[in-house]
Amino acid sequence: MVCKGICSRYRAIKPGKNSRYAIGQKRCSQCDIFVNWEGKHCLCCGYALRTKPKGTNTRRRLMVIQEVKRI
Ligand SMILES: [Zn+2]
Ligand SMILES: [Zn+2]
Repeated sequence: MVCKGICSRYRAIKPGKNSRYAIGQKRCSQCDIFVNWEGKHCLCCGYALRTKPKGTNTRRRLMVIQEVKRI
C-alpha cells in the first residue's frame, strides 16, 4: 500500500468550475492525487479510490478554515 509513482502518469488535470468528482476523477488518499482511472482501486497502491466528495479531507479542511475565521 505504498505509492510507486505510477499514479502520476494518470494524474487528472484540474477542471475549471466543475467538481473533480463530477467529471469522473477519483482521489487516492494514499498517493494524495486525483487520477483519471476507471477502477475502484488505485492503479498505483491498490487503495480504494474516493468517488464522492462527501466526508473528504477537503471538506474537513473547509470546516477548519471556518472555525479559524470565527476566532
Ligand atoms: Zn501513487
Ligand atoms: Zn494510490
